[in-house]
Amino acid sequence: ELQHINTDLLVIGGGPGGYVAAIYAAKNGLKVTLAEKAELGGTCLNVGCIPTKALVKSAEICRNIYESKHFGVNIDGVATVDMTRVIERKNEVCSRLVDGIDYLMKKNNINHIKGSASFVSPTEVKIEGETDYLVSAKDVIVATGSKISNINIPGIDLPVVMNSTSALSCNQLPKSITIIGGGVIGMEFAFIYKNFGAEVHVIEFMDRLLTMVDPDISQEIYDIATEAGIKVNTSSKVVKIQSSTDGSAVVTYQNEDGEHLVVTEKVLVAIGREPNLDGLMIDKTDAELNERGRGIKVDAHMRTNVEHLYAIGDVTNIIQLAHVASHQGIVAVKNILGKNVEMDYSAVPNVIFTSPEIASVGKNENECKANNVGYTVSRFDFAGNGKALTMNEPRGYIKLIKENTTQKIIGGSIIGADASALISVLTLAIQNGLGEEEIAHTIFPHPTTSEVIHEAAMGFGLGALHQ
Ligand code: FAD
Repeated sequence: ELQHINTDLLVIGGGPGGYVAAIYAAKNGLKVTLAEKAELGGTCLNVGCIPTKALVKSAEICRNIYESKHFGVNIDGVATVDMTRVIERKNEVCSRLVDGIDYLMKKNNINHIKGSASFVSPTEVKIEGETDYLVSAKDVIVATGSKISNINIPGIDLPVVMNSTSALSCNQLPKSITIIGGGVIGMEFAFIYKNFGAEVHVIEFMDRLLTMVDPDISQEIYDIATEAGIKVNTSSKVVKIQSSTDGSAVVTYQNEDGEHLVVTEKVLVAIGREPNLDGLMIDKTDAELNERGRGIKVDAHMRTNVEHLYAIGDVTNIIQLAHVASHQGIVAVKNILGKNVEMDYSAVPNVIFTSPEIASVGKNENECKANNVGYTVSRFDFAGNGKALTMNEPRGYIKLIKENTTQKIIGGSIIGADASALISVLTLAIQNGLGEEEIAHTIFPHPTTSEVIHEAAMGFGLGALHQ
C-alpha cells in the first residue's frame, strides 16, 4: 500500500546536486522531501571526489617517505602499504561525511526517504523502499547523477578488470596496473598507484592526456608522469583484455606502430560516465532529453520543458563536477522561489588531483582560439617561487589569460604545487571581472605558492619580478 505525501519540493537524488538543493530550499522555508536510493552524498561522497582524495593523501604520504632522504630524514627499514587500512581510513572519512549530511537533513527538517523514485506524472513520484510512498509535489528537481559508461571491449568483464568504484574498495595494492583512459579519473588513479610504488601504464585513445586542458598542460603532465615512471601511450586503442594462466591481465592495444601487449596484475577502466536515468520512468513526464538520450535537457534556469520539473547535476550532462551540481541546485531553487536566475558557466573551476595538481578556470587558450577571442598570455614558472622550492615542487607553471578588448582576466590554468587551492583566487578574479592591475596591486603573502598569481599578473606589464 502506498503512503501519500504532499510536499512543496521533491528532490530525487541525494548527491551534491540534490542534497544542496534540498538544504537551500528548506532554509528558504519550503517543505522538502528528498528521495535517495543509496547513500546520501551520491557519487561524490561515496565513490567519487572524496574517496579518491583520501587515497591521494595516503599515496602522497608513501611518496614523501620514498623521497624522505632528499629532505634529510632517514627512515630505517622498508615502508610498506597496508591497503586494507588505506581503504578503511577512506571509508571512515566517507561515512563521517555521509553522517554529516544525514544530520543536516534532520536539522533542516527535510523528509529524507530511502528508496528508489519513479515518475507517475511530472509532479507525482512513487518511492519504493522499506515503505512505499506516492509523493505529490509542487515542484520536482531531478538530481539522479551519472553512472559508469559501458564500453565494448572483449574481456572487459574479467575479474582482473576494475572500474573506479571497485578500485576504491580493492584492499590489495596491485604491483602493476594498466589504466585504460587518460582523462581526469584515469590520471588521478595513475598517480595514486605510482605514488604507492606500483608499475603503471596508461593507454589513451586521443592524441594527448586530459583533453579538457590546453595542449601545453597535457604535455607538461605527460613529461612529469613519464619522468615519475608512468608509461603513457596516447593515440592507442585497446582492442581486448585477456587473462593469462598466472592470473595476470594481458591488454592488447593498437597504434600506428601496430599491435602491442601489456601484461599487468590488474586493469582499471576509466573511460567516462554518462547521465543516469535508470528506473526513473522519465518518459512519464514528457521531459525532453539531450541528443542521443544523454541526460535531461535544461535551460539556463535549470528548467526542463515541463512546468515545475527541473534537473541539475550530472544528469543534465553539462559539466560533471560536484560544485557545478551544487550551484545548479541553488539556481533551480531560486527559480522555484520565483526569482529569475540563470546559470553562468564562465568561471567554473576544475581541478585534477595529479602530482602536481592541475587546475583551470574560465576560458583556456583552445577555447579563445575557437571563439576568436583576442587574448594575451602571461606565464610564470613555479621554479621562480620560493615556497615551491622549499616543498621540493619546482615543476609546473601558471598561465593567466587576458582578453585584449576588455583587458580583463578571462581564464587561468595552473599546474604545480597547491593548484587546487590557488585556483579559487583566479575564480574570484574572473567572476568579478578583475584585470591584471587589480591583481598586481594586491599584496600576496610571502613565502607562499599564491605569489605565482601576483607574478603572472605583473608579467602582463613590465614583467614578473622573479623571472
Ligand atoms: P550524484 O553524486 O551521482 O548523485 C546522484 C544520486 O542519485 C545518487 O546517490 C543515486 O543513488 C541517486 N539516485 C539515482 N537514481 C535515483 C532514483 N531513481 N531514486 C532515488 N535516488 C536515485 N567532481 C568534482 O567536482 N571533484 C572531484 O574531485 C571529483 N572526483 C571524482 C572522482 C570519481 C572517481 C568520480 C566517479 C567522480 C568524481 N567527480 C568529481 C564527479 C562528481 O562525483 C559528480 O560530478 C557529482 O557527484 C555529481 O553530483 P550529482 O548530485 O549530480 O549526482
